[in-house]
Amino acid sequence: MNKLEPLYPYFRPYRRQLNLGLVCVALSSLIGMAAPILIGVAIDALWTEISPRMLLIYGVTVVGVAAVTGAFRYLQRIYLVTMSRQIQFDLLKAFLGHLGKLHPGFYQEKSTGDLMARATNDVEAVRMLCGPAIMYGANTVFTATAAIACMLFIHPGLTLMSVATLPLVAVVTKVFGAKIHVLFERVQDQFSTLTTRVQENLAGARVVRAYVQEASEEDRFAVDNQEYVDRNKLLILWQSAFSPMLHLVIAVGMVAVLFYGGVLLIGGEITLGEFVTFNMFFGILVWPMMAIGWVINLFQRATASLGRIQAILDTEPAIRDHPSAVPVETVDGAVRFRDLSFAYEPDRPVLADIDLDVGAGVTVAVVGRTGSGKSTLLSLIPRLVDPPEDRLLLDGIDLRRVPLATLRGAIGMVPQETFLFSTTMRDNIAFGRPQSSDEEIHRAADLAGLDIDADTFPKGLDTIVGERGITLSGGQKQRVALARALIREPRILLLDDCLSAVDTETEERILQNLRTVFSGRTVFFVTHRVSAAQMADLIIVLDHGRIAERGSHRQLLDHDGLYAGLYQRQRLEEQLAAAV
Ligand code: ATP
Ligand code: MG
Repeated sequence: MNKLEPLYPYFRPYRRQLNLGLVCVALSSLIGMAAPILIGVAIDALWTEISPRMLLIYGVTVVGVAAVTGAFRYLQRIYLVTMSRQIQFDLLKAFLGHLGKLHPGFYQEKSTGDLMARATNDVEAVRMLCGPAIMYGANTVFTATAAIACMLFIHPGLTLMSVATLPLVAVVTKVFGAKIHVLFERVQDQFSTLTTRVQENLAGARVVRAYVQEASEEDRFAVDNQEYVDRNKLLILWQSAFSPMLHLVIAVGMVAVLFYGGVLLIGGEITLGEFVTFNMFFGILVWPMMAIGWVINLFQRATASLGRIQAILDTEPAIRDHPSAVPVETVDGAVRFRDLSFAYEPDRPVLADIDLDVGAGVTVAVVGRTGSGKSTLLSLIPRLVDPPEDRLLLDGIDLRRVPLATLRGAIGMVPQETFLFSTTMRDNIAFGRPQSSDEEIHRAADLAGLDIDADTFPKGLDTIVGERGITLSGGQKQRVALARALIREPRILLLDDCLSAVDTETEERILQNLRTVFSGRTVFFVTHRVSAAQMADLIIVLDHGRIAERGSHRQLLDHDGLYAGLYQRQRLEEQLAAAV
C-alpha cells in the first residue's frame, strides 16, 4: 500500500466526492439484493393463495428496486469517475509543471517519447486506479459480502459448494486480463512505430525522393505493417479465448448449484423460491469476482505507473532559485566572467579561464571555430546551463543569486537552433510578450529585417507558419526568432549565430538596423562573419574554450592572429565571389 502514498494528497481535495461515491456504491449494492429476495418470496407465494394484485405489487416493487439501484449506480459513477478525471488533471498539471523546471541535461537523458508515455499512458493508468478501480473494488466488497450473507442464510452448505468455484473466475480474469493488456500494449507500440514511420516519410518526403528511396521505404513499411497484423492476431487469440474460459468456469459453478440445490429442493430443505433466489445471487456474484481480477491488474499497473511518474517528480530541478536569492529591483546588464571554467562532463572542459568584464550597454561579438564554446558561453548567462558559483556576475552580484524570473525576464535570447510554434506569425513573435499590439509586432519584425508584406505572407501576421515553421525559409525563421527576442526589449540580448542562414549583405543590413536597438543594451552576438563582428565594441575570439584574442576590430587586425586570418580569408572569398 505504501507505494501509493504519493497519491494520497491528490485525493485530499475530493474527499467529499469520494465519500459520497462510496456511499452510493454501498447503497446500490445493498438495495440490489432486494430483487432476488422479492422474486423468491413471490414464487413461494404462488403455492399459497396469492391474488394477481399481490403479484403486481411484487412486480412493481422489483422494478422500483431496480430503479433505485440504478439511480445510485448512476451517481456513484458520476462522483467517482469525475473525481478520477480531476485527479488526472492535477497529476498532469504537477507533472508538466515539474518538467518545465528541469535542467536541459535531463532532456538529453530522457527521450521525448518516454516523457510523452509517462504523461499519457502512466497518468491514465493511475487515473484508472483512482476512479474505476475504487468503484469496482468497493462494489465487489459490498455486493459479495451482502450476497454471500444472504446465501448463507438460505443454506450454508449450498453456499460453500457453489462459491468454491468463484475464485476461479477472479483467477481467469486476472490471468487473461494481464496477458491481454501486455499484448495490447505491444500492438499499440507497433502502431506508434508505424505512425512514426508514416510521419517521417511525409515530413521527409523530399529527402526520400531525392535519394530515390521510395521502394526501400515501402519495403520497410511493409515489414512494420506485417508485424502490426501479427501482434494483433495474437491479441485476438487471447481475447477470443477469454470469454469462453470464463463461461466454462461459471458453468461448473452453476451446475453445482443446480445439482446440489435441486437435491435440497426435492428433499424439502429449501423452497423453490429460495432455490431461484439462490441462483440469482450466484449470477450476481459473477461480476464482482471478475472485478477482483480486473482490479488487481489495475492496481499493479497503477503502482508501476505511479513509480514512473514519481521518478520524474522526484527529480530535483537542477537550476532553481538560490536559497538566498537576492531580490533585484532593476537589471543594468553588466556581465562579468571571473576566471570561469565550465565542463558538461568531468574532465572535458568546454570553457577555461574565461575572464571578461562587459559593462552595461556594451556590444560583444563572439567568434571562433565550431565547437570552441560560443553557444556554451551564451547559455551560461540565462542559466540554461548553470555556471559555477561566484564565477559569473550580473551587475556585480553572483548571477546565481538573482531570482531566475528576474534574470530571464531581463534577457532576450535567440538560440542557435530556431524553434517556431505551429501557429501564427503574431503568436510566434509575441510569444514572450503576449500583450503586444500589432504595431509593436510589426516594429520588431521590421527591426529583425522581416517584411511581413502581402507578397511573402498573404495573411500578414495571421499567417500560420506551419509545423515548426516548415513554410518559412531558414532565414525567415531566424528573423522571426530574432523579432521574438527584440519585442521584449530586454536589457541583455544574446544572439547565437542567429543570422547564419541569411546572406552576408542581409546580415550586415539587419545589424545596421539593430544598432539603435543595441545601444543602451548589453549584447553578446555570436557570428562567423568578420563583417558582422566589426560593428561590436569588443570582439572576443574563442579557441578551444579559451579567449585567444580580444579587442576591437582594428586592434585584432593589428595583432595578426586568428581573427586577422579569418578576416583575410573572408576578404578573399568576397573578392573571388565578386570576380565570378
Ligand atoms: P558552433 O559554432 O558549432 O555552434 P560552439 O562554439 O557554439 O560551436 P558549443 O556548442 O558551445 O560550441 O560546444 C562546445 C563544446 O561543448 C563542444 O565540444 C560540444 O561537443 C560540447 N557540448 C555542447 N553542448 C553539450 C552538452 N549538452 N553536453 C555535453 N557536451 C556538450
Ligand atoms: Mg554554437
